[in-house]
Amino acid sequence: MHFEEVKQQEQSYLMPTYGRFQTALVSGKGATAVDTEGRAYIDFGAGIGVNALGYCDPDWVEAVSGQAATLQHISNLYYSPVMTQLAEVLCQLTGFSKVFFGNSGAEANECAIKLARKYGTQTHGKDCNRIVTLHHSFHGRTVTTLSATGQDGFHHYFTPFTEGFSYADPNMESIKAHVDENTCGVMIELIQGEGGVRPLEKAFVQELAAFCQERDVLLLADEVQTGVGRTGKLYCYEHYDIQPDVITSAKGLGGGLPIGACLCTERLGKVMDAGMHGSTFGGNPVVCAGALAVLRKITAPGFLEQVAEKGAYLREKLTAMEGIAEVRGIGMMLGATLKADNAKEVAAACVGNGLLVLTAQNLLRFLPPLTISREELDKGLAILQETISKL
Ligand code: PLP
Repeated sequence: MHFEEVKQQEQSYLMPTYGRFQTALVSGKGATAVDTEGRAYIDFGAGIGVNALGYCDPDWVEAVSGQAATLQHISNLYYSPVMTQLAEVLCQLTGFSKVFFGNSGAEANECAIKLARKYGTQTHGKDCNRIVTLHHSFHGRTVTTLSATGQDGFHHYFTPFTEGFSYADPNMESIKAHVDENTCGVMIELIQGEGGVRPLEKAFVQELAAFCQERDVLLLADEVQTGVGRTGKLYCYEHYDIQPDVITSAKGLGGGLPIGACLCTERLGKVMDAGMHGSTFGGNPVVCAGALAVLRKITAPGFLEQVAEKGAYLREKLTAMEGIAEVRGIGMMLGATLKADNAKEVAAACVGNGLLVLTAQNLLRFLPPLTISREELDKGLAILQETISKL
């Protein structure tokens, strides 16, 4: 099938919810994707931070295809050794005590929100159900996680939204103005991704963590984009030397299959009772087998150090690149503002030149596969430089 036929078919049969780049991808290996016409692209986006091991990593393929050929789904009516193994590995790697599995980042956040509300109302009274999030945040596309998202642009069309959210600025004065006796949780992204690759300041995050602990307000870290090695640590909160009460994980965890996980500390482990939350597909064996392969690989000795090194290299090259104004982010989660303020135009032109790159607000955004090689980075950077200078 050629690109124009795919585009025609999309226009005929899909709800027009996406503004897509002008290519249809059909295969991939490592950090290189191939389109319907046989053209290759260096991928600096990894399916929006999902393909942690790149395209079709052999160990991941073996784990997933082996599980698919053994037992593909059982529902949550039965015990699953693949799910329990993944939960154990996640808890042992992070120090968290309990996990709930869903299918996406938004679902992981829904679980965190429900958990915070259940804890708040049972511990501090029926009105202790409010959650504070930050301006520029992004927490998902369900009606409740849209409510949690602190960007006005997401609060149209689907009224009435879930009540009980308010939005603070990333400083303690603003947090203190929003948190009261009815606040059960504060939800943050340590690096705001969709909101423009904005890392929170360490001093603020540490003060926030201490403040939440003092007030018994749960600190919920949305690590959907920052987690699973993306920043050079398994989870980004490790850079901040804090212990959140709850973290949510998705994107890179499945290595390309849909998964969401909500992890909580020991004291919260029994807040959710049987029947209070669930998901038909959550913790599906094939997806969990993929996640186990991802975690095995990224926690191998030296892997995360390499992510940090490659991130530093990418940052250095971007900072030195003509046409780039500012680079921000941590590890391999980077954003770059452009002197010509034309990120969307540059990203679209890059596709024509063989590079897939993301945008966020007015930035170019870089979330390459964690396994990308120096050669692939250099190849992509050369395409980016040429594209910027020709526009
Ligand atoms: N939270 C953050 C920080 C995200 O970046 C995203 C997606 O971009 C989500 C939640 C929602 O994840 P999903 O699209 O898997 O529901």
